[in-house]
Amino acid sequence: KDLAHIRNFSIVAHIDHGKSTLADRLIQATGALTEREMKEQVLDSMDIERERGITIKAQTVRLIYKARDGEEYVLNLIDTPGHVDFGYEVSRSMRAVEGSLLVVDASQGVEAQTLANVYQAIDADHEIVPVLNKIDLPAAEPDRVREQIEDVIGIDASEAVLISAKTGLGIPDVLEAIVTRLPSPKGEAAAPLKAMLVDSWYDAYLGVIVLVRVIDGVLRKGDRIRMMQTGAIYQTDRVGVFTPKMLETDVLGPGELGFLTASIKQVRDTRVGDTITSERGGCAKPLPGFKPAVPVVFCGLFPVDSADFEDLRDAIEKLALNDASFTYEMETSAALGFGFRCGFLGLLHLEVVRDRLEREYEIDLITTAPSVVYHLHMTDGSMREMHNPADMPDVVKIDRIEEPWIRATILVPDDFLGDVLKLCQERRGIQMDLTYAGSRAMVVYRLPLNEVVFDFYDRLKSVTRGYASFDYQMDGYEAGSLVKMQILVNEEPVDALSTIVHRDKAEMRGRSMCEKLKELIPQHMFKVPIQAAIGGRVIARETISALRKDVTAKCYGGDVTRKRKLLEKQKAGKKKMRQFGKVEIPQEAFINALKMD
Ligand code: GDP
Ligand code: MG
Repeated sequence: KDLAHIRNFSIVAHIDHGKSTLADRLIQATGALTEREMKEQVLDSMDIERERGITIKAQTVRLIYKARDGEEYVLNLIDTPGHVDFGYEVSRSMRAVEGSLLVVDASQGVEAQTLANVYQAIDADHEIVPVLNKIDLPAAEPDRVREQIEDVIGIDASEAVLISAKTGLGIPDVLEAIVTRLPSPKGEAAAPLKAMLVDSWYDAYLGVIVLVRVIDGVLRKGDRIRMMQTGAIYQTDRVGVFTPKMLETDVLGPGELGFLTASIKQVRDTRVGDTITSERGGCAKPLPGFKPAVPVVFCGLFPVDSADFEDLRDAIEKLALNDASFTYEMETSAALGFGFRCGFLGLLHLEVVRDRLEREYEIDLITTAPSVVYHLHMTDGSMREMHNPADMPDVVKIDRIEEPWIRATILVPDDFLGDVLKLCQERRGIQMDLTYAGSRAMVVYRLPLNEVVFDFYDRLKSVTRGYASFDYQMDGYEAGSLVKMQILVNEEPVDALSTIVHRDKAEMRGRSMCEKLKELIPQHMFKVPIQAAIGGRVIARETISALRKDVTAKCYGGDVTRKRKLLEKQKAGKKKMRQFGKVEIPQEAFINALKMD
């Protein structure tokens, strides 16, 4: 196809505003799939995504559309990941297309992710077509939402397309708007090959599948290609497009979106944002803006039953095959035995991986407290990254500790604003901005990521009864007055409960953790002291009283069967416990002790 008959676009929306439903309708309306092949939400391919209503892997689909001008157009829709943790992948997908449909639920209005995603589209110089969805709902207020888009986002919404993705109303207008209002791509077929690696994933039959956008030149089956960032060289063995089924075309020209396979063994060998060119006579400069994905949240994953360690290793290796942004290395903990220290792009990413390990691979896991990556500036002038509070070196060797900050945008109905400000303030937040969009406030806060990783989402949801929406981006490192707090159970430090806390919060956090652990750890035959300490100094203490002697005294009276029964009963109840010294600590204690309420 010539460039004038190609349109590349993405759909940006807040979660649940109807992005997937609209994509399905567009596929249906252009007849890319037969009715039978058309199952609900074809673009959300993984079950777990479907359940959580999020899209993790960017997918793409080529639609053939005969427009009202009588010409046939190729429309390439790229489905971008919907969550903040995948922000960099979103930004790369956006660079691969020229326009966006901005879908806003006409009964809800603009939300935090609407803003975050549309700003990405604006950054990528997209032409944007506002689409107001769900106008079948009685609560839909298209006029109000149109105004809100103009006020809050600052783009013209007077020609917004009104649709119901559910009933199909307005879908032909969306297709027509894509052709008439979005620009066609630019590119030079005669120039050296220059293509962007937009995404990649592992397929059991084909190996790694790479999603590419050809900028200049032509990509052909059998070409020898070079990845400019990694320097790796491959020979393509398949080149084609998604309809959304894979269709080999053997050639992709400028402006086109499609896939290649090249016997690439693992997704780790492909970097999102890399530039693909010919091995010989390639383009001079790579595309700008490449950034390797860096994990920002780490936690330990340990099997509840240490006999499951090898299974856990297998499962983690399999998962990592298809997720280049997830990192892992073996870790040993005095409290938890053998496990893995794993790195994630954010909290949601962590939850998704943990869920998959537990559900798909059926491994019971202990997840230790998530920790951010600290920068330790040592007195000898060197800097090291610390992924695990248990690895903290002697404080006398540390000059200062820097922690990552985020810039958070929260949209919340007026009524709950006070509670949100209080929550952010409690978490060491610094207010940057506060504006109103109708009856809702938009607050921008800088917050230490450390204060957000435990339970910020949960708290935000509960104080706003689910009405707030939240989005964030990383915003640099800053020195803070940070100390390592240890928890001692029965006088012994439990490494998996060590945390890095702000000095001003240490006492409060220490007290809260001791109180929680007192509830979470069962009584033993002896008194169990629980202490929080910084360096050698105890800052909080609780004691679990001993079980009353007479409960078991009866057992010593000679009734052996009763004693055995009691022991067996205890053992069954202890399945999810870990022995630590003389004390049993239940699995959930490791994570629950850290929740702040
Ligand atoms: P996404 O998270 O943006 O991909 O949203 P989905 O497409 O998964 O839609 C979220 C929910 O809204 C689903 O339950 C859809 O059935 C529903 N939905 C989508 N479009 C419409 C619409 O036009 N009208 C109504 N009433 N519901 C819709
Ligand atoms: Mg979706």
